[in-house]
This record gives sequence, C-alpha cells and structure tokens, in this order.
Amino acid sequence: MQHIDLIIIGGGPIGIACGLEAKKKGIDYLIIEKGPIVNSLFNYPMNMQFFSSSEKLEIDEIPFISKEAKPKRNEALEYYRRIVTSNQLNINLFEKVLSVEKETGNFKIKTEKETYTSQYVVVATGFYDIANTIEVPGEDLSKVAHYYKDPHFYSMQKLAVIGASNSAVDAALECYRKGADVTMIVRGPEIGPRVKYWVKPDIENRIDEGSVKAFFNTTVKEIKDDSLVLNTHEGEKTIENDYVLALTGYKPNFNFLKKMGIQLSEDGKFYPQYNEETMETNVKDLYLAGVICGGMDTHLWFIENSRVHAKMILSDIESKVKK
Ligand SMILES: Cc1cc2nc3c(=O)[nH]c(=O)nc-3n(C[C@H](O)[C@H](O)[C@H](O)COP(=O)(O)OP(=O)(O)OC[C@H]3O[C@@H](n4cnc5c(N)ncnc54)[C@H](O)[C@@H]3O)c2cc1C
Repeated sequence: MQHIDLIIIGGGPIGIACGLEAKKKGIDYLIIEKGPIVNSLFNYPMNMQFFSSSEKLEIDEIPFISKEAKPKRNEALEYYRRIVTSNQLNINLFEKVLSVEKETGNFKIKTEKETYTSQYVVVATGFYDIANTIEVPGEDLSKVAHYYKDPHFYSMQKLAVIGASNSAVDAALECYRKGADVTMIVRGPEIGPRVKYWVKPDIENRIDEGSVKAFFNTTVKEIKDDSLVLNTHEGEKTIENDYVLALTGYKPNFNFLKKMGIQLSEDGKFYPQYNEETMETNVKDLYLAGVICGGMDTHLWFIENSRVHAKMILSDIESKVKK
C-alpha cells in the first residue's frame, strides 16, 4: 500500500491548483483523476467560450493568453495541460477513486487500480459527472442526451432543447445557426435570469421572430421515437421530434461525500459542511475545493472564485505539517 502525505481527488482546474501549491510548498502529493487532464472541460461543448476572461481562469498567476478576451475550450485545455506537463505535476490519469475511509489517523483511499494511505485528502471532484434527469418515460432512448457536444450532428433535424439556462441557450442558438429546427421546452415563464447578459437578447430575439420555437410554462410528459408529448399551459400537445438535448443541469456526487463522513445540509441543497477559512470539512484533515463546495447550487462556485481554495487549503496543511 503506497503512502502519500496528500491525495487530491480530481484533476480539474482546482485540483491542479492544489497540486501546484503542494509542490511549491514541498508537500508530498498525488492528484488522482478518473479521466484525462481537466476531464470536465474536455467534455464541455466543442465550441464553448468561457464567460470569464482568461486572466480570471489563471492559477498561481501563470499567464493565460487567449485570442479573444474570453477563451475557448481548446485554449483552456491547452493552458491547464501545459501547467500539468511543464510543472511535472504528480497526477495519475484514468484512475477513479472509489472510496475514502479514515482509519487510525490515516485515510485509506481505494481506486480502481490501487489502495493508498494518506494523512490529508482534498476532494475536488466537481459537479459535471451526474446530470439532473427529468424522470419521464422515454428519457433512456438513444436520441436523448444530457451532454451537448457539437451542433453539426443536429443539422436538418427537429431538435428539442429542454432547459433555459446558459447551457440550454448556447446549444439552442448554436444548433439553430447550423441548420437545426430548434424548439425550446422551458418549465418557467421566461429564459433563465442567469443567462449571460450578452447572450440573453440574442435568444429572446430569435424566439420573438420565430427562428427558434419555444414553449414556456411547459414540461415534457413523454419522449417517443419520433415525437414529444408536452404538458403546456393550454393542455397536452404533441410535437414532431428527432433529438432531445435535456440540459437541465448537473449535480455533485453527494453519496461519495456522505460515505466519507462529510455532513450535508438537510434543506434539499446538500451544502457540505466546511470551515470557510481553511476549507477543512467536519472530518479532520479532509478538505473540499472548487465547485463541489456549493451543493445543489452549482453556480455558487466556479473556477474564477474557487481558485483561491488551493492556497487556503495548502497553507492550513503546511501549518499542521510544521507543528
Ligand atoms: C458550459 C460551462 C461553462 C463554464 N464557464 C465558466 C467560466 O467562464 N468561468 C468559470 O469560472 N467557470 C465556468 N464554468 C464552471 C467551471 O467549469 C467549473 O466551476 C470548474 O470546472 C470547477 O473546477 P473543479 O476543479 O472544481 O471541478 P471540475 O472541473 O469538474 O473537475 C473535477 C474533476 O474531478 C474528476 N473526478 C470526479 N470524480 C472523481 C473520482 N471519483 N475519482 C477521480 N477523479 C474524479 C472529474 O473527472 C473532473 O476532472 C463553466 C461550466 C460549464 C458547464
């Protein structure tokens, strides 16, 4: 069984920031990532552009140069990949962590490949692995996707986009512009209030002019091979349909946190308990970093405002190591 002083679970931007900070402080560490480097970003839509400008996505003040002020996914992959490779960070890729247990002072971390022990653990596993499902018949059909990748696929197809937040709006606009016949299905009365202020008028104008169709105050009742049954405010309605993008958000793996002993709030938001100055959870020497800290409110933390977690956590660990 290999012993490493600090195990960081998740090789997203924040896990990488933690690894970098540990390396600078001379702390023995290993990042364990279940996919490629920055797996979530790798799985984002092919042409996505960040809402943050590049300097706000920088970690450890390493300059992030992008063509436009707000970088594209490819540029972010390049940036974070170069940080890992140039700094020769200790990272194991394609190794999923299955469990973390505390045993006589140390943690025992089981992965698909190995069992490790460590003194400290940082959980930076993000929220992008589990999609919020809509729980209707037909959701398991192969024409339904909860992740959007490339608009080309939907060209000349009748595409329903479920949801009205940033991901849904970006996908609807992009697919419409690549020749898809797009219908948005929106549970509320309007496009989401958190949609980027420079994108909102675009989708609202496309809906007003009829280029993108939209049903507001509407939910999906059933997904069939060639149609969708909707519950609209005017009653049940069936529309023709080839593909469905159910972009209704994602959530962290709460069971994973619970099994480690981390307390979650009982208000349906599942906010994990942690010290806001050190990021240490109610389990001693177990820390949280990044978007995972927000519970169901996955918009609370993002790269821009959670990159500071790395310095907070590592200075706390350093102070314990020095004692
Ligand atoms: C479309 C889109 C656009 C966005 N734009 C912006 C933006 O402009 N600005 C901004 O600041 N934020 C943006 N965000 C949010 C931002 O991407 C996330 O907040 C960010 O990825 C959080 O980083 P993280 O390291 O906490 O989590 P993640 O990037 O999700 O990384 C978590 C990592 O943990 C790995 N992992 C999970 N479980 C395990 C396991 N059991 N074992 C091993 N590894 C595991 C995952 O594979 C993943 O690589 C955007 C998000 C989306 C979806």
